[in-house]
Amino acid sequence: SYVDTINKKEDKIDAFLLLKTDEALQKAKEIDEKVAKGEKLGRLAGIPIAIKDNICTHGVRTTCASKMLEYFVPPYDATVIKKLQAEDAILIGKTNLDEFAMGSSTENSAMKVTKNPIDITRVPGGSSGGSAAAVGSEMVPLALGSDTGGSIRQPASFCGIVGMKPTYGLVSRFGLVAFGSSLDQIGPFSMNVEDNAYLLNIIAGEDDLDCTTKKGLEKVDYTKELGQDISGMKIGIPKEFIEEKGLDSEIKDIVLKDLEALKELGCEVEEFSLPSTKDGLAPYYIISSAEASSNLARFNSVSYGYRAKDYTSVDDMIEKSRSEGFGKEVKRRIMLGTYALSSGYYDAYYNKAQKFRTKLKDEFKEAFKKYDIILGPVSPILPFKIGERCEDPTAMYLADIYTININLATVPALSMPGGKSKEGLPVGIQLIGDTFSEDKIYKVAYQLE
Ligand code: GLN
Repeated sequence: SYVDTINKKEDKIDAFLLLKTDEALQKAKEIDEKVAKGEKLGRLAGIPIAIKDNICTHGVRTTCASKMLEYFVPPYDATVIKKLQAEDAILIGKTNLDEFAMGSSTENSAMKVTKNPIDITRVPGGSSGGSAAAVGSEMVPLALGSDTGGSIRQPASFCGIVGMKPTYGLVSRFGLVAFGSSLDQIGPFSMNVEDNAYLLNIIAGEDDLDCTTKKGLEKVDYTKELGQDISGMKIGIPKEFIEEKGLDSEIKDIVLKDLEALKELGCEVEEFSLPSTKDGLAPYYIISSAEASSNLARFNSVSYGYRAKDYTSVDDMIEKSRSEGFGKEVKRRIMLGTYALSSGYYDAYYNKAQKFRTKLKDEFKEAFKKYDIILGPVSPILPFKIGERCEDPTAMYLADIYTININLATVPALSMPGGKSKEGLPVGIQLIGDTFSEDKIYKVAYQLE
């Protein structure tokens, strides 16, 4: 039935860069046969799942929606892919994204523009717009995305679905094409909270192939506390979130309405201050671009990736290949990052941003001594029209204000549907928790759903 939906809707939505529906049907048949024989099957047996195209899949093209990797076929699987396969999931396709996950609308893809399933004249958000649109249009029940500064949560909000950015170090990044290595996390998209928690159960955990995964973590079942009473839990709402100048009044009303709903569920709700959050954008764009400039240095056209046709020397080959292979936004970030890291500017930008990050982390740490969950908006603006914001990158960056601080602080946050605008556009709300408290986030989210 999912293949039927894909055949019906994909032409309009353009969520996928690659579809493997024939293989998927074949795999489903094999699973049916195993069921008939009474064989033991994995926890995702027969479930189709879409994968953001910056997650490496062995033998299956992984492009990062970039001309640079248009024909790149990874010789290995990301750890998350191995885990899905071990549970008999069906990988049905690779989804569109902003090139190398840089953007908030999926319009920076070098391949195609994905449409919002609620209103196809609007963007699905980004950078994981393809994965969010695939789930939002019910072409798949589950998908994976990556989130460096909001790329799971903001598209989940724009497409009216659930998306989790786990604690940094909970999910292995092995095989995720790196953007900002100290910020990147892979996470699940789903139609509802329970499915989301179920998928996180499968992809979470320490990995010898990623030394930044947390060691010695106790295995948590994220579905275990779903349905339990949340009365007495403490919810904080930062006044900076509500006072933000750019916040759309409809979105503000929805967040406040959901806060009331939490009160009715018996939670203690309180306004407090997280002063640094209003200043996070500049440090985020410095740190993420600095890391990107270093990570993307590997794409030199020597051993793999796009290579320009005419060149006169090795240097010329590298320069031309990078000039032609990378899109505008990616080049902007590489230049920004290289500048911030260059001697003479390092202390003024990169070091200062790192100091800010430490201060921000401390503020979150303090807040979580008092609150179980911090509530807020995901995006200050509603899903916008395709093309509307392309010419103004700074305006696009400003709309990341509610998501980027979470990655800088390394804490987990879930985006879930919070309500609808008058026009019927989905509005997500964000539930932020302390590091490794995803179980608490899901418990509260389940009650709000
Ligand atoms: N919109 C943010 C950026 O462009 C976030 C991207 C992401 O999370 N991958 O940097």
